[in-house]
Amino acid sequence: MGIAHGQGYTQAMDLIALAVPFFLLSIAIEWSWGRWCGRDTYRLTDAVSSLTLGGLSQARRFVTLGVGGAVYAWLASVTPFTTWTSEGWQAWLIAFVLYDLCYYCSHRVGHEVKLFWAAHVVHHQSEDYNLSTALRQTSSGFLFGWIFYTPLFVIGVPAEMMVTVGALNLIYQFWVHTEHVGELGWFEYVFVSPSNHRVHHARNTCYLDRNYGGVFIVWDRLFGSYQCELSSEPCVYGITKPLRSWSPLEAWLHVYRDMASDMWRTHSWSDRLRVPFSHPSWQPSDLLAKKESITGEPFEKYDPQVSRARKMSGTFNLILITLLLVAAQNSQLLRGYELFAWGMMLWLGVANAALLNNYDSAWFRVQELVKSLVLFVLATQLSAASAILIIPLSLAGTLWQWFERETEEVGATS
Ligand SMILES: [Zn+2]
Ligand SMILES: [Zn+2]
Repeated sequence: MGIAHGQGYTQAMDLIALAVPFFLLSIAIEWSWGRWCGRDTYRLTDAVSSLTLGGLSQARRFVTLGVGGAVYAWLASVTPFTTWTSEGWQAWLIAFVLYDLCYYCSHRVGHEVKLFWAAHVVHHQSEDYNLSTALRQTSSGFLFGWIFYTPLFVIGVPAEMMVTVGALNLIYQFWVHTEHVGELGWFEYVFVSPSNHRVHHARNTCYLDRNYGGVFIVWDRLFGSYQCELSSEPCVYGITKPLRSWSPLEAWLHVYRDMASDMWRTHSWSDRLRVPFSHPSWQPSDLLAKKESITGEPFEKYDPQVSRARKMSGTFNLILITLLLVAAQNSQLLRGYELFAWGMMLWLGVANAALLNNYDSAWFRVQELVKSLVLFVLATQLSAASAILIIPLSLAGTLWQWFERETEEVGATS
C-alpha cells in the first residue's frame, strides 16, 4: 500500500509538473490577448505575488510529510471493502465524480469555518482575476485538507487513482480563472465555468460563500449554494478583509494570526474555544466594538506604484523562483537539497515582496547582496549550465538598486 501510494503520488506530481509549461504559456496568451483587445486583467505585482505563492505551494511537498498519506494507508488496510481495480473507464469516472463531491465539502468548509479558511484564504487574496490567480494556492492545506477525502479510501478507491483524479480536478480548475469568457449557456448548469467561478472569487455581499464546486457546479445547485453572475452586480475580486501585502508570509499567516489574537483578547472562555470553528466573519462579542468594517465601499485595490527597474528585477526574481522549483522537482542535481531549495524560494519571495512594496533600507540592500552571493555559490556547486542560468538572473534581480539610484541622481541634478 505504501509503495502504491508512493507511485500514485509520483504520477500525479508528473501530471501537474507536465502542466506547468502549459499553465505559463496560457498566462502569456491571456495577458497578450488582454493587451490586444484593451482589457488587460493583469498587474505585474499581483501576478508575481500569486505565482510565487503557487511555486511555494508546489515546493511545500519537499518540507512536510503528509499526515494524510499515513492515515489513508491505514484506512485502506482496515476497510472491509476491497480495493477497486483501476482497469476500465467506469471506475475512473465514478472516482472522478466522487472526488469532486469530497472537494465540494472540503471547499465549503474551507470558506465557512475559520480554521480551514485560514489555509484556503491564500487562493482568494488576489484582487485581480486571471489565470495567475488559479495558481495562487495555499501551503498549509496539508494540515487538515486530507480529512475530506478519507471516505474515498474507506470505499476502496486505490491511492494512485485517487491522486490522479485529484490532479485532473486541479488542472480543470485552471482555465475558469479568466474574465475573458462570458456565460456558457447549458454548460453553466453542469460544470464550473469562468462565469460561476468569478462569483466564487467576488467580495460583493450577494456573492459571498457561493459556488464551491471544483469541476461540477451541480453540487451547488443541489445543496443550495449556487449563485449566477448578475449583470447588475459586477464582480469585485478579493477578500472582505484585504491582505494589503505581497509577502507570502503575511499571505500564509494573517488569518491564523487574527484567530490567535481574538482567542487571546476575548474574556469569554466559550468564545475563545468557538473562534477556530466559527464562520470567518464571526468575532467574540466583546471584540465586536473594535471590529473593522468588512465590506466598506468604495473598495480600492492594493496597488503600490513601483518603478520600472523594480518591476524588471521582480520579474527576474520570479523566473529564479520558478527555475528553483523545476530544478528541485525534476533534476538529480538538487536531490537531497530540496529543503534548501524551498528555503531559497521563500527568501526570494519575501525579498521580492518587499521590493514590489517599494521597501528600501541599507540592510535590505545588504540582504540583496548576501542573497546573490548564496545563489552564486549554489549555482557554481550545481553545474556549469545552472551557473550560466542562475548567476545572470540573480544579478538581474538586484539591478533595481543601480537603476533607481541613477534615476534619483538624474532627478536631483535636473
Ligand atoms: Zn474558494
Ligand atoms: Zn478559484
